[in-house]
Amino acid sequence: MISVFDLFRIGIGPSSSHTVAPMRAAHRFVRTLGEDGVLADVATIEIELFGSLAATGVGHGTDKAVLLGLAGEQPESVDVTTADERFRRLSAEHRVRLPGSPTAVDFTLVLHHRFRPAAHPNAMTFTAFGRNGTVLGSRTFYSVGGGFLLHEAEDAPQDVPHPFTDAGQLLRLAGDGRISDVMLANETARRPESEVRSRLLHLWDVMRDCVDRGCRAEGTLPGGLDVPRRAPALHRRLQQHGASADPLQAMDWVALWALAVNEENAAGGRVVTAPTNGAAGVLPSVLHHYHRFVPGADEDGTVRFLLTAAAVGIVVKRNASISGAEVGCQGEVGTAAAMAAAGLTEVLGGSPGQVENAAEIALEHHLGLTCDPVAGLVQIPCIERNAVGALKAVAAARLALNGDGRHLVPLDTAVRTLRDTGADMSSKYKETARGGLAVNFLRC
Ligand code: SF4
Repeated sequence: MISVFDLFRIGIGPSSSHTVAPMRAAHRFVRTLGEDGVLADVATIEIELFGSLAATGVGHGTDKAVLLGLAGEQPESVDVTTADERFRRLSAEHRVRLPGSPTAVDFTLVLHHRFRPAAHPNAMTFTAFGRNGTVLGSRTFYSVGGGFLLHEAEDAPQDVPHPFTDAGQLLRLAGDGRISDVMLANETARRPESEVRSRLLHLWDVMRDCVDRGCRAEGTLPGGLDVPRRAPALHRRLQQHGASADPLQAMDWVALWALAVNEENAAGGRVVTAPTNGAAGVLPSVLHHYHRFVPGADEDGTVRFLLTAAAVGIVVKRNASISGAEVGCQGEVGTAAAMAAAGLTEVLGGSPGQVENAAEIALEHHLGLTCDPVAGLVQIPCIERNAVGALKAVAAARLALNGDGRHLVPLDTAVRTLRDTGADMSSKYKETARGGLAVNFLRC
C-alpha cells in the first residue's frame, strides 16, 4: 500500500517527475557510490536524460535538480531561495562536490531526445567514472510521476489492515463508515496516530505557506515567456471587496489559491506534490475553500480531507498513472481534481458512495486532457488549468452531495478509461512540448 506520505511530498518546483524525482535519484546514486566504497575514486559523473526528461527537462528544472541532488540536496530540505544561484555556479564551474568526496568531480549532461525507453518515458542514467575511465558505478532510474521512482520500497507490499487496490474494494472496506477511517487505520499500522495527524497538519501548513507566498510575490515567472504572476493582484482585489454581494465570489477565491500555488511552483518554490507538482494547486485550493467557506471547518476535517484524497490518488496510481509523461494531464490535474472532490465530499459529510461519485465526476471530465506545456515550462496551460481543476472539483463534490451516491459509471471505470486513453495518446501530448499549445502558441 502506498502511504498518504508517499503521495503528498514536500518538494521543490516546478515538476515532481522532472525535478523532485531526479533530485532524489541523483542523491540516491551518490549514496550507492558511498555504500560501494568508491566515492573517493570518482573523477567524472555522466548524467543521461531520456524521453520526456530530455524533451522538457531543461524547462522543468531537471538539470538543476540532478546537480543539486549530486551535491547532497533533497527536495524537502533544499534551500529554494539559493537553489538557482547554486545551480548557476555549478553549471559555470562544470564541477560538483559529492558529499563525502574529498574533491569536486567533473560532470557531463547528455540529453537523448530521440530515444524513448520502453520501461517508462522518464528515464535517467547516472554513471561514475574513475580517473582512468573505468566505470565505478552506473544506475538507471525511472521517474513515474508524483516524485516516485520505480520500484521504490514504498511501492512494496506492506502489512496494513485494509489493503485495497481499486475503488470497489475501498468502498467495501468503508461499508457504512468513512473512507478516511480506512486510510487512517492503514496509516496507524505504520506510525502512531498522533504522528499521522501532526504530519498531515504539517503538510497543510506547507500548503498554506505556499499560498501566502504566492499571494505576495509580484513580477514575472522565470523561463523566458514573461508570464506575469496574477495571484497578488487578484488577492488584493478580493481583500478590498471584502464579503461581496457577488454570489460567485467564492469561485474567484478558489482560482486565486490555485494560481498562487502554481505560480510558486513555476518559480521553483516550495510546494507539496498533490499528487504532482504540476497539479499541486488543486488540492490546497479546495482545502482553503473548506476552511474559508464551510462553517465548523477544523483540523480533524483537514486530516480527513487529506486521507480521503490520498485514497483516490492511490487508486489512480495503482490502476493507471499520475504521470503526465505517461498519460497526459488527465493523470495529473484530472487526478488532483478527483482527489480534491473526494476530500471535500468527505468533510461535508458525504457517504462513501458520494465520495466515490465525486471523484468519478471530477475525473470523468478531465479524460483525454493532454500535456502540452508551452516552451517546456510548467506555466501555460498548467497554472490556469489548476484553477479550473479546483473549480471542477468543488462542482463535482456538490453534484455528488446532491445525489444519493448511486451513479452509473464507477470510479474504477473512469480510471481504466484514463489508462486506456493515455495509452492511445500520441507522445506529442505527453510532456514533450511537441504538440498542442506548445507548438500552436505564437508570441507577438
Ligand atoms: S499540462 Fe498538465 S501534466 Fe503537463 S506539465 Fe502542465 S500540469 Fe503537468
